[in-house]
Amino acid sequence: MSNHYEVLNVPQGASGEEIKKAYRKLARRLHPDVNSGPDAAEEFKRVTHAYEVLADPQKRRVYDTTGNENGTDTGFGGGYSGSGFAFQDIFETFFGGQSGQGGPPSRMRRGQDALINVRIDLKDAVFGTNKKIDVDTAAVCPTCDGSCCQPGTSPRTCDICRGSGQVQRAVRSILGQVMTTAPCGSCQGYGTVIPNPCHECSGDGRIRARRTLTIKVPAGVATGTRIQLSGQGEAGTAGGPQGDLYVEIRVNTDSTFLREGDDLHVTLSVPMTAASLGTAVQLDTFDGDQELAIKAGTQSGEILTLRGLGVTHLRGSGRGDLRVHLNVETPRNLDPEQEELLRKLAGLRGEEYTDGQLASSGSGVFARLRERLGNL
Ligand code: ZN
Repeated sequence: MSNHYEVLNVPQGASGEEIKKAYRKLARRLHPDVNSGPDAAEEFKRVTHAYEVLADPQKRRVYDTTGNENGTDTGFGGGYSGSGFAFQDIFETFFGGQSGQGGPPSRMRRGQDALINVRIDLKDAVFGTNKKIDVDTAAVCPTCDGSCCQPGTSPRTCDICRGSGQVQRAVRSILGQVMTTAPCGSCQGYGTVIPNPCHECSGDGRIRARRTLTIKVPAGVATGTRIQLSGQGEAGTAGGPQGDLYVEIRVNTDSTFLREGDDLHVTLSVPMTAASLGTAVQLDTFDGDQELAIKAGTQSGEILTLRGLGVTHLRGSGRGDLRVHLNVETPRNLDPEQEELLRKLAGLRGEEYTDGQLASSGSGVFARLRERLGNL
């Protein structure tokens, strides 16, 4: 069993204010109205019990000297109940409302979810990245720590409704006098009023603040993918829990690679001579230089597939492929010598093509084409 200081995560010599602050922070996270986790209720009880002891100077003195709040050394006997320091009081002190059923509603509200867009490069989508982002959201007010009250003050039970949050009014109707119940106008139905609202947050318990977060962008994300960060959204009112932050990804268009699903496509231009004779070329990919073998006789439009060099699958394992579309470049702006050589080559291959006429001779491609088209 850890001791009360450890439970509240404060040093042995902590001041009353520090202890209060530490408890408020834990209670906000663990309170059953807010946290439905399986261990939260038990944890909340322990934290509250520790606070009951340490917040009371007399009990604390006994605890500090004997290590036990009962003033005896016979184990950890003092229960959570039975203390004059009722939980309800603690809760009202901090949160300005009553807990549980039947009472007026708490000022505490869960914060809203927030959505921000983040741009990343295609390479970051392939491998994943850590991205620093600035987030403007409501944050817990550092001055009042979400209590809405000026430090040293606390909410007071509303005089008008006497803490019920509701007022009864007699209304005349055709049935005679009818009593109706309406939220108390003095405390807006909360049952308590805040006589000294915090100056920094005007009694809201939160302020606008900018934070810098580093988010982990997993490999495989695409434009429109949303990453949910629990509890990183807007702070709630009156110390209520934070909403969630959603980060929506936008992937920048890459100047070289085109993405289709988890495959990447790239076009590689190969000179006609190299495509004809065969060669090896270096291709700069996201995985570094890759050597590509261009077979002799490569045609424009042929595709070479580099397995596993595409985008990482967001779910499951492995990666898509990188598909290299080969584009054979027809030479332009020939000088006379080059033209002569090509004509000679054409002649040797029976591919002469002059003055817009199909060559009459041989079995070249144009002759074959003419055969296929028939006698038109
Ligand atoms: Zn404040």
